[in-house]
Amino acid sequence: MFADVIVDINNVEVDKVFEYSFSDCRITLGSRVLVPFGKKLIEGIVIGVKENSVYDADKIKPINSLLEEKPALTPETLALMQHVCKTCYVTRASALRLFLPSEMRKGKVKEQFNRFVKIKDGLDVEGAISSLKKTAVKQKELLEFLKNGEKHLFTVLSERFGSSAVNAVVGKQFAEIIKEKYFRLPYKDLASVNKQITLTEKQKEAVESVKNTDKTVSLIFGVTGSGKTEVYLNLINDVIKNGKTAIMLVPEIALTPQMLKALRARFENHAAILHSGLSAGERFDEWWRLRNGEAQIAIGARSAIFAPLEKVGLIIIDEEHDGSYSSESAPRYDTIELAKFRANLNNAKLVLGSATPSIESYKKAIDGEYNLIELPDRINKRPLPSVDVVDMRKEVMRGNNSVFSSVLKNEISRCLENNNQAIIFLNQRGYSRTVICTECGHVQKCKDCDVSLTYHQEENALLCHYCGAKYKMINACTECGSPYIKHSGTGTERVVSELKKLYPTARILRMDRDTTQNKEGHFNIINKFTAKEADILVGTQMIAKGHDFPSVTLVGILDADMSLHFSDFRSSERTFQLITQVAGRSGRAQEKGTVVLQTYSPENLTLRQAIKYDYEGFFNQEVSIRKATGFPPFTDIVRVLISGADEQGVINATKAIYQELTEVYNQNKDKFRFFGCMKAPLKRLQNKFRYQILMRIEAKEKELLDKIFIISDKYKSRNLFVSFEINSNNLT
Ligand code: ADP
Ligand code: ZN
Ligand code: ZN
Repeated sequence: MFADVIVDINNVEVDKVFEYSFSDCRITLGSRVLVPFGKKLIEGIVIGVKENSVYDADKIKPINSLLEEKPALTPETLALMQHVCKTCYVTRASALRLFLPSEMRKGKVKEQFNRFVKIKDGLDVEGAISSLKKTAVKQKELLEFLKNGEKHLFTVLSERFGSSAVNAVVGKQFAEIIKEKYFRLPYKDLASVNKQITLTEKQKEAVESVKNTDKTVSLIFGVTGSGKTEVYLNLINDVIKNGKTAIMLVPEIALTPQMLKALRARFENHAAILHSGLSAGERFDEWWRLRNGEAQIAIGARSAIFAPLEKVGLIIIDEEHDGSYSSESAPRYDTIELAKFRANLNNAKLVLGSATPSIESYKKAIDGEYNLIELPDRINKRPLPSVDVVDMRKEVMRGNNSVFSSVLKNEISRCLENNNQAIIFLNQRGYSRTVICTECGHVQKCKDCDVSLTYHQEENALLCHYCGAKYKMINACTECGSPYIKHSGTGTERVVSELKKLYPTARILRMDRDTTQNKEGHFNIINKFTAKEADILVGTQMIAKGHDFPSVTLVGILDADMSLHFSDFRSSERTFQLITQVAGRSGRAQEKGTVVLQTYSPENLTLRQAIKYDYEGFFNQEVSIRKATGFPPFTDIVRVLISGADEQGVINATKAIYQELTEVYNQNKDKFRFFGCMKAPLKRLQNKFRYQILMRIEAKEKELLDKIFIISDKYKSRNLFVSFEINSNNLT
């Protein structure tokens, strides 16, 4: 027998299907196998099985061994993988990796302990290497490999370099073993009682509508607090009862525990969670529970769309408008598109839910492509919170230079006196956005990126939010030596310290990327706040989405304008969504909620629409602007981004690609709305220069997009990154 195999090497040159022979009858579609490749043995996956081959039998190598008895991929996930290859402009290997937990690829995760090997701190690596015998090739290679100080799994290193080399290097005290314990059932303490909830009429109608529509996709447009989660749970229940499975996606890892809690309360251990914040063993085990059919509900952020389930009957994408559903780093993919494909494969239903649907989805709904379901009221007709707009220019004129307006200060006091909770939202982490010299105006910048550095008080350091580099805080300007350094712009750390001064007895929590680094970090903060162990929660957009905190009666939005001034075509849409979402955290239970929105542009139309919850007004205005100016969904924005360390090389490649694309452009002028070549807005990132070719093309010109991709992809090389992005959320 012969097998078509994709080998696990992410490289354009080997992005082919290879043929191997086999006699082991356990090998089948989706099996993971070890195959000879060049001089090595490489992991691969069987994507086709056949009796005959067109090649000479003696030229075909046999499969070395079968890795697991159960095929890792099913016919369904194989089909989805092939669809990803075709539509997402990625290699087969990188598409394949989306479907397997990384632990599975690297080797076996079975123990309760992970053993890592790491180079000893302060070791003179070159010295160590030269002290080794000539014949100790593997040990030398291993030291080279460990040189950058990263820790690696012992098992992985042993596979690669041989366990005797690893043991020898450890024995010679060049490296050390670090043991890390892990627990395999994620969120063990997450217990919840199943609240007996009777659906409202509206909720019942929504459930029935999803079940009875002949359309694959339903869009539930329901205001914040309208009870969408209950609708989802009911739909899942129905699917499970019929012997099928379900996938539930939420936009943030931070939201998975809350949803898992609701799912466990109802479905016990039939729900499994998949996300990158879990430990290796947990992720591995949860993945297998789904693959084995022990769990029938997969929950997670966008990557859970690749869950190893069979017979998927329902896919739910909550907060469907959220930017996180289109992945920004390679492999880039659009979760909603993949979900549609997967739903169609199975004749399943896809449910999109949001209080602020994306322009694209809502347009499809009113154009009749999606089934539109509206939940216009909060549960029990609780009112949406009223929004107080504060003109910060007037505050400044009155001499108030604090980050809090007097209105907000009064509201916080009132909220605390009444024993309620408040949320303060600000989309900037750190203490101050930048530090500036008051003498010469110099702004501290990252040496590798073209961006200013953010001051973090807790670490007393300047951090680059783009590459993560950390610099010592300065005492004097690095340009002119002046000691007069000013903090400019406010971050969450500073908000917390100001709050502490104003309300010394208030208990304050902060939730942003910095406070949620460790495992279950999100979960702990959310839990504390839900348990009322804190009065005020300060945070970035992480706190804006989806959370249900019944005691929150006040939401303060400190910088409502911030996203308005991005040059992105989606900036109005993002602003509208963000304000509606953050405001939606207030007044979800008995007491009425208040929102204080601080802005420097109170007359802005998008802000005015957001505070009135006028989605339709906003939608109509935005659609007419996009239509007139030729932006998505009426066109596709295509960017070819070229970057590399050698600026001249990047410029040359950009010019060459541009020239080739000009031919395509000349032949298709009627389909192009824009075609140009320039420096990227962020000119340098991690010491790589960035240039771009930007195009706006009539929507759905798949053939044309393929052409552009093929041309630009040719220029990829070891030193030159070329990426191809369609309607990216991030065009920096
Ligand atoms: P959304 O996701 O639409 O913002 P949720 O699903 O979080 O809203 O529901 C808001 C609140 O209303 C939750 O606390 C939920 O438990 C409650 N709720 C939902 N449906 C009902 C119902 N039928 N009866 C009583 N309470 C409900
Ligand atoms: Zn200076
Ligand atoms: Zn940087």
